Amino acid sequence: MKLQYIGTGAAEGFPGMFCRCEACERARKKGGHNLKTRSCAMINDRILIDLSPDLYAQSLLLGLELGKVKDLVVTHTHKDHLDSFFLELRAKEGAVKQIHKEESYLSVYGSSFVQSVIHKALAEEPNARASRLKYVPVETGTWFQAGGLSFCPLKANHKKDELCYIYAVTDGVTNLLYANDTGTPSAETLELIESLGLVFHAVSMDCARGTLPGDGHMGIRENLELKLHLEQMGCAGEGTRYYLNHLSHMSGIIHDDLQTLMGPEGFTVAYDGMIVNIK
Ligand SMILES: [Zn+2]
Ligand SMILES: [Zn+2]
Ligand SMILES: [Zn+2]
Repeated sequence: MKLQYIGTGAAEGFPGMFCRCEACERARKKGGHNLKTRSCAMINDRILIDLSPDLYAQSLLLGLELGKVKDLVVTHTHKDHLDSFFLELRAKEGAVKQIHKEESYLSVYGSSFVQSVIHKALAEEPNARASRLKYVPVETGTWFQAGGLSFCPLKANHKKDELCYIYAVTDGVTNLLYANDTGTPSAETLELIESLGLVFHAVSMDCARGTLPGDGHMGIRENLELKLHLEQMGCAGEGTRYYLNHLSHMSGIIHDDLQTLMGPEGFTVAYDGMIVNIK
């Protein structure tokens, strides 16, 4: 399974769009992997996880063929993860002049909150063709197929007024846990993860809180705890690789600092464009 991190920053980006704090200024100065656009990812070059507001520029920079994407799996409706303007453009007649038959619609998987965003996007664009967006409801703990892979939605601990998901993903051989945005998963979610009976080859975790205590996002402490939990449950082992994603300026540390802190603990800090061949 090929996972590509498209963007690896929090909602405001890193450096924060309008922020002049010390961490943002250091990130600007150091550049490279310290510069992080808003989070989304691609699996096997054809399945998108989330739609960041930076996706158009990201696609040009990384050479992503968005016209070929047929499946969009959504974690939640925060605007850094689901840009409804993109949905309008996908559905708008004039914005997509030519479309191959097999890509005639984009399947969008997520909770009913995602469905509301789709409805709104279609309502706001008079030239939108509803047939170009197909909402597919998903349920906690129930596997569904997208782009030749199986996904299992697991309740995130993130936005209190919305059912947000993290996902277990498998191609039958390799297994991925994609976990952002979320704070420490609840006991219920951990039990569900254990019940899947999978050993993850790759685990991608939210680390927006950095050195601060976790809340609706994890920080270093929660990342280490979750790693331990997964190992204790038999869901991770020697071959498991850990990645940190969705970084923010909140705790004042930048990508390079986090890599220095977490590298020795077995974590790799993801960067924009990073490709992970999961095996
Ligand atoms: Zn986010
Ligand atoms: Zn800042
Ligand atoms: Zn969020």
